[in-house]
Amino acid sequence: MAAEFSRRTNGLLDQADSVCQQRGANLTELRRYVLGLILDAASPTGAYELLDRLRQTRRSAAPPTVYRTLDFLLDQGLIHKVQRLSAFVGCMAGCTANPDEVAHTHAAQFLICRGCGRVIEMQNHDVSAVLAQAAKVVGFSVSSATIEAEGFCHTRETAAGGRVPTN
Ligand SMILES: [Zn+2]
Ligand SMILES: [Zn+2]
Repeated sequence: MAAEFSRRTNGLLDQADSVCQQRGANLTELRRYVLGLILDAASPTGAYELLDRLRQTRRSAAPPTVYRTLDFLLDQGLIHKVQRLSAFVGCMAGCTANPDEVAHTHAAQFLICRGCGRVIEMQNHDVSAVLAQAAKVVGFSVSSATIEAEGFCHTRETAAGGRVPTN
């Protein structure tokens, strides 16, 4: 299944491949292909969309195939799940991670654009620190936190009839 991914995606796939190899994990052809589809997409990709894409080259692909593949990619920190959208985005930091880390996980914040559907990933340590501090005040220690915020990215200003956020 020759995939036509962008050069940027192919570069990331090669890096993800070597990260996995050095960890003793195997980025199989199928896993690499699914990761490529996610990295190449302009906005987060849902499992069923991935299944549709996969079926173009593998007619026998079934939902468990996709879910198992996504689990692997999540475990390796190569992708994130954006819960609000039930969809997946590639993680640049994960694909280029230090292989010595068994699984690359990090505090992440996602900015979800309601205009164009784009998701911007941030790794702002101040945000994590503020949350941890606020939680501590109420007697809670945060072990991991993924923050998802909805709004509009600045590209909407160039779009016709730019909508005004309602909340
Ligand atoms: Zn990430
Ligand atoms: Zn946008």
